Parts: sequence; C-alpha cells; structure tokens
Amino acid sequence: MRELLHDAHGRRISDLRVSVTDRCNFRCQYCMPAEGLPWLEREEVLRFEEIARLVSLLVGLGIEDVRLTGGEPLVRRGFPALVAMLAAIDGIRDLALTTNGYLLERDAGALAAAGVGRVNVSVDSLQRDRFFALTRRDALPRVLRGIEAVAAHPEVRPIKVNAVAMRDFTEAEIARFCEFARSTSFQVRFIEFMPLDGDRAWRPDAVLSGAELRAAIEAIHPLEELPREPAATARVFRFADGEGEIGFVNPVSEPFCADCNRLRLTADGKLRTCLFSLHETDLRGPLRAGADDGELAGLIRGAVWRKELKHRVGEPGFRPPPRTMSAIGG
Ligand code: SAM
Ligand code: SF4
Repeated sequence: MRELLHDAHGRRISDLRVSVTDRCNFRCQYCMPAEGLPWLEREEVLRFEEIARLVSLLVGLGIEDVRLTGGEPLVRRGFPALVAMLAAIDGIRDLALTTNGYLLERDAGALAAAGVGRVNVSVDSLQRDRFFALTRRDALPRVLRGIEAVAAHPEVRPIKVNAVAMRDFTEAEIARFCEFARSTSFQVRFIEFMPLDGDRAWRPDAVLSGAELRAAIEAIHPLEELPREPAATARVFRFADGEGEIGFVNPVSEPFCADCNRLRLTADGKLRTCLFSLHETDLRGPLRAGADDGELAGLIRGAVWRKELKHRVGEPGFRPPPRTMSAIGG
C-alpha cells in the first residue's frame, strides 16, 4: 500500500496550494507595494508540464485537494489549459481557484469547461471608491461581473467571496457584506490580516479579529454556527433569520495549526510547509536535473516530516518570512 504524507506531529497532509505566477494586476495594500515587486524571470517559473508532474506525484502521496492561486492566476497565459491538465489527474477530489476576479468575465467559461470545481474571489469592499483605495485598481464593477459570470456555471460551486479584515477599514463594510451574503448564494468570509504584506506595515493592532467582526454582525443579525468540517480554516455561520452564510478565518487570533493539513508549491517550484516557513525545499532544481519520482517523493516526504508545529505570529521574536503573500501563494 502507498505510504501517505505525514508530518512529525501526526498530521496527515492532504491539501496543496499551487501558485502559478507571482505576478498580479492588482496592488492590494495588505499584499503588494504600489510599485509591485521584482518578478521572477520566465525561466524560473515552473512550466505547466512541470506543475502537472509535481501535482500528480503529490496526489500519489495522498494530496486530495488542490487550490490554484498566485499572484493572480488568471494573468498566467493559457491558464485554463493548466486547469484542464490538472483536472485530468486521477485522485484530486477538489480542484479550486482563488482569484481577484478581474479576468473572470473573460475566463469563466473556459475555466468551467476545463474542470475547475470551486472558486474563491477576493473582494475587500463593496463600495467602488474604497475598493479602489485598497486594491489600487478601480475594478469593483468588473469583479462583480466576473463573479456573476462564474456563477452562471452551476457545476462550479461553491463560490465564496473573501475579504481581508483590517481595522479602520472593514468595519465600514460589515453591513454591506451581510446584505450581500443574505441576498446571494455566495458565502462571505472575513480573513484576518496577516504579517505577509509587501509594505511590511502589519502591526498586531491592524488585525480586526473574527471575534470583533462577529460581535458587530450579531448586534444586527443573530448567527447560528454550522458544524465545522475537519481541517477547515473557517468557522461558518448561518443567519438565524434566513438565508446566507458568513465565515471567519482567524489565523492570527485563533490559529488552526493543530490540524493544518496544507502544503504550498511556489511558482518557482519551492515546497513550503507553512505560510510562515523560513525554510523551503527546492523541487525545481532536482526536477530539471532529471530526478525520478522516487527521488522527488523522498524530498517531499522529508520536507513534510519537518513541517512546523505552528506559526509564531504574535509571539516574541516572530520573524516574518522573506517572501510576502503574492510570492508565496495565499
Ligand atoms: N490574487 C488572488 C486573490 O487575490 O484572490 C490570489 C492570490 S492572493 C495572495 C490569495 C488570498 O490571500 C486573497 O484572498 C488575499 O486577500 C489574501 N491575502 C493577501 N495578503 C494577505 C495578508 N497580508 N493577510 C491576509 N490575507 C491576505
Ligand atoms: Fe494581487 Fe491577490 Fe495580492 Fe491582491 S491579494 S495584490 S489580487 S495577489
């Protein structure tokens, strides 16, 4: 029988996030500096065939859920073709995408046809001027059209809308996001701001916690918690008086490291075992040097075995990783 991936802390690893590019057409304040970042050279970025080979190998080791991310995955040329290559790999239970939605109107049909299973779209404000201020792109109407374009494909479900929760910004969005969640089938999720921003401006007091948001929402609309799925990062609630779901991803105030089942592959082929890892395992070098599946599997098993027990955000001496969110793949 094949030996599944486990770490030294008894966690079975079954979820993989694959970053397909470090480039992006937005400049969200909590992620990238206004001027962008030095991009990887084209040669440094894994080719589709290389990504498919590594994903296939990882699925053979027990990965079941694969999420494609970036940077902005839809700016990678021919991206739907990669989705189709991955959808053809036997053993993937869930093939998901995280996108800023800017190019979804263009690509929704191709992505659905290629076999994407579910989509998360990042929307931090439902007010055009505030969306512009935060993402540095005046793109809210276009992103909302992109969400509708993907929603037109009923085989792509669920569709979730993610907002990074930042103090002195997100408070003024709560009522609108509640109405959005109550009047559409899209689950809205608030994600706590993490120290992975390109400007290195994160401070503990800039985190608007899930508990604070929840209290503010409960003051208007009572919520009922839904059962938590194993290894789920979000606590999900239903509005007690009707339709709609709202979730809270609280990596800073309520870390979920104890049952973290995740690995990340960066666009340049490095394996990361934690968002906050200070060490990475290079797979691109050995892959291009002709390593066989057994050798690559050995490198992956070794890295997974050393997976960090937990992140140390908020603890004395915490050091953020050299790469920031867009270069890791969130
Ligand atoms: N560009 C795509 C997008 O924005 O959805 C995919 C990549 S983006 C890095 C993935 C997710 O990470 C987005 O939902 C984004 O809001 C989130 N993110 C980026 N920087 C973050 C930070 N410093 N703290 C918390 N979430 C962050
Ligand atoms: Fe781009 Fe996503 Fe980062 Fe925003 S969060 S700058 S859309 S990678």
